[in-house]
Amino acid sequence: MIDPLTALEQKTELLCKGIFLDKQLIEYYKEQGIEINFGRKGGAGPLGGRYFLLEDNKTLVNAALWNDKKKTSLILKQKREELFEIYDEKKKRSFGKVKLVNNPQFYDLKTSDGIEMRKIALVHGIACLASTIYQKCAYWACGEACKFCGIELSLSYDTTILEKNYKQMSEVITAAKKEGRCSHMTLTSGTEETVDKGANRYIELLGGIKRNHPDIPLHVQIEALEELEYINKLKKAGADTIGIHIEILDENLRKKITPGKAHIPYEVFEKNWIQALEVFGKNQVETYVLTGFGESKEVFNKDIEKVISLGVIPFITPVRSIPGKKDLPITNYKNLLDVYLNAGKLMKQYGINPLENIAGCVRCGGCSAINEAYKVA
Ligand code: SF4
Repeated sequence: MIDPLTALEQKTELLCKGIFLDKQLIEYYKEQGIEINFGRKGGAGPLGGRYFLLEDNKTLVNAALWNDKKKTSLILKQKREELFEIYDEKKKRSFGKVKLVNNPQFYDLKTSDGIEMRKIALVHGIACLASTIYQKCAYWACGEACKFCGIELSLSYDTTILEKNYKQMSEVITAAKKEGRCSHMTLTSGTEETVDKGANRYIELLGGIKRNHPDIPLHVQIEALEELEYINKLKKAGADTIGIHIEILDENLRKKITPGKAHIPYEVFEKNWIQALEVFGKNQVETYVLTGFGESKEVFNKDIEKVISLGVIPFITPVRSIPGKKDLPITNYKNLLDVYLNAGKLMKQYGINPLENIAGCVRCGGCSAINEAYKVA
């Protein structure tokens, strides 16, 4: 069994490097009824990965699966009993063991209006149902999309529909619950040009979902708003936690990597976070922070402290390339480990506990090792 520090180390390395999957293994396992593939090619959260549990059977990781050996030294070996072994080709030794989280069965079912349920929402990790409620983003239309984003790709791959309604969502929740695959939900969306930035679309949906499934905590993700009142309205409509994602902390990198979003000054994000903390309460506000663009560790750590000192959970995640698109750099896992250890200590110091977050990415935790960092701090 692995201890919490080993879990943090292994997860960080897997988040950064991903795993090589031999195509032949896909067929081999298919014959045994095990579905393993290269994961989503579009949509919300880092793409092209699958969910695994580490040997402790509780640390979840969303790891990229590569079909190219040059991308990683970690190789997925054959499955023995419940666990796959991962071999480190560079160090010529076993890296550790992981358990593949199976895809749910409801994906093949259809909603009452005839849409495949997998096009409405997907299970992230074990029991976090996740959906992009509106699959377009204003920044894509004007050529200012974030460099790591795949939101409109899923539409072109026909793996989703443009917009989802609460009826469809409620039916998928019911199906997912039957399999024990929905205990909370992440709702995300593209940014809209209107003053509400898409909040109104959420508001309509949240009310309907809450009426049908009052027991499911809901997480929404929205861009920083000029009209802070919408944050109150989202809470009132049924959101339980919120993510207001800065994505990049370094001002120069922001302009390069998130050209559209970078028009919003950092101070506006601060105002939104402060308001969100007032409304949603302690440990229920997070911001995605991507790393691995060559930023200085010292500056990054200082910026992270600024975010944490406000009471916001920084959901620190290594950037990952979109399958089939231009390669983004691979994050150095040793640097990221230092970043996580530092963030873990800072969260303790400022009295923030990500383990108390009730819905969404922080609770799921697959894409960041922030929860594990908190545990070892
Ligand atoms: S943290 Fe979980 S819910 Fe959020 S994008 Fe990653 S896998 Fe999905």
